[in-house]
Amino acid sequence: KNFTREEIVTSAKENNVRFLRLMFTDIDGTVKNVEVPISQLTKALNNEMMFDGSSIDGFVRIEESDMFLYPDLGTWLIFPWEIGNGKGSVARLICDIYNADDTPFSGDPRTNLKRALKEMEKMGFKEFNLGPEPEFFLFKLDKNGKPTLELNDNGGYFDFAPTDLGENCRREIVLHLEDLGFEIEASHHETAPGQHEIDWKYADALEACDNIQTFKLIVKTVAREHGLHATFMPKPLEGVSGSGMHFNMSLFNENGNAFYDESDKLGLSKTAYQFLAGIIDHALAYTAICNPTVNSYKRLIPGYEAPVYVAWSARNRSPLIRVPSSRGMSTRFELRSVDPSANPYLALAVLLRSGLDGIKNEMVPAEPIDRNIYRMTTEERHEKGIIDLPSTLHNALKYLGKDEIVKDALGPHIYNSFVTSKKVEWAAYREQVSEWEQEKYMTLY
Ligand code: GLN
Ligand code: MG
Ligand code: MG
Ligand code: MG
Repeated sequence: KNFTREEIVTSAKENNVRFLRLMFTDIDGTVKNVEVPISQLTKALNNEMMFDGSSIDGFVRIEESDMFLYPDLGTWLIFPWEIGNGKGSVARLICDIYNADDTPFSGDPRTNLKRALKEMEKMGFKEFNLGPEPEFFLFKLDKNGKPTLELNDNGGYFDFAPTDLGENCRREIVLHLEDLGFEIEASHHETAPGQHEIDWKYADALEACDNIQTFKLIVKTVAREHGLHATFMPKPLEGVSGSGMHFNMSLFNENGNAFYDESDKLGLSKTAYQFLAGIIDHALAYTAICNPTVNSYKRLIPGYEAPVYVAWSARNRSPLIRVPSSRGMSTRFELRSVDPSANPYLALAVLLRSGLDGIKNEMVPAEPIDRNIYRMTTEERHEKGIIDLPSTLHNALKYLGKDEIVKDALGPHIYNSFVTSKKVEWAAYREQVSEWEQEKYMTLY
């Protein structure tokens, strides 16, 4: 969709829009917004809305803090909730961030993704498509509206039995998303109690990332209306599955899906194999971006359908990358490491550049691993050249620092802000002495 200014102005009037949210995403992946009364619409459409960039972590220093929001007209959306009784509605526009001198701000993750997409276009591709599979947990709120660790159901994977609150809440989320134009393809209970997944139709990189951000906002808002807290934390509870956000990715050129070739035995084109090889080659480095929290690494352990080893397969779900069975237009790679704490704009930028690097350098992937990797011995894995994903945020940051392609995909501004803040996060975590340690060592030593 692409709206003209006139269409937006008309739509605002017709729908009695009273407030406009100008949204953007910070480096951590958190959606931020400046809300203005609709009287400011023209000013916003003229790219004249200013905000103080120094108040956003990792953006800019105080001396250079005037930033401007340039709305992307294609993202015009009226939220399906009303303010007060019939007092009007709220709309949003997703914005790119610009410096006062009219140049794009290099610390803006959305603008940065556009830079990676330009690189792709230079190589003759038209679109990088993403279909995400976000998972999340629903926890009960207490009397004061604070999240508890109490789950609201005991359901399991694809459970059918009515699981009270969770089921209704998920349906409500789906209805809201459909009202907003999401084409929901699947919505089901996940393996763990209180865990859910909602999948919708793939879209081009930028729109897909915008959709993820909108999705999270809707899920959290609707959950709260049901007395629940929705969390996208990767591993909220020990002993049960964590939440991933599998990324289904494909490259398109003017002839359609560039990953498909019916003459190949797996139905994959040369471009697909090279892209895959790039994704494998840079896996250690982009893990810090796709799994950016201390908690992310509590999910990447054996036993819970989350990947631990760098390998690919067309048959098996234990490796990092799977080739789902559909071909033709739907030919794609499913990267299973990404978790929902990742900033989608940053994750897609590093993944796209990794894949493109494989194509540029005509990389060849290792043989697929069609066995359950978790049942292989260390020696067997070693023989096949299967390496481990980083096991902590600390290790992941070390690999990130060594990969020039992935660093370049972020640009120096984002790379430096990201690493600085993640090092602080890791240092704070290291200081903690956990209950597990106290129980384990207090009497033993
Ligand atoms: N929850 C699993 C993960 O952590 C995925 C489970 C699934 O979708 N099959 O990635
Ligand atoms: Mg799924
Ligand atoms: Mg799932
Ligand atoms: Mg999946």
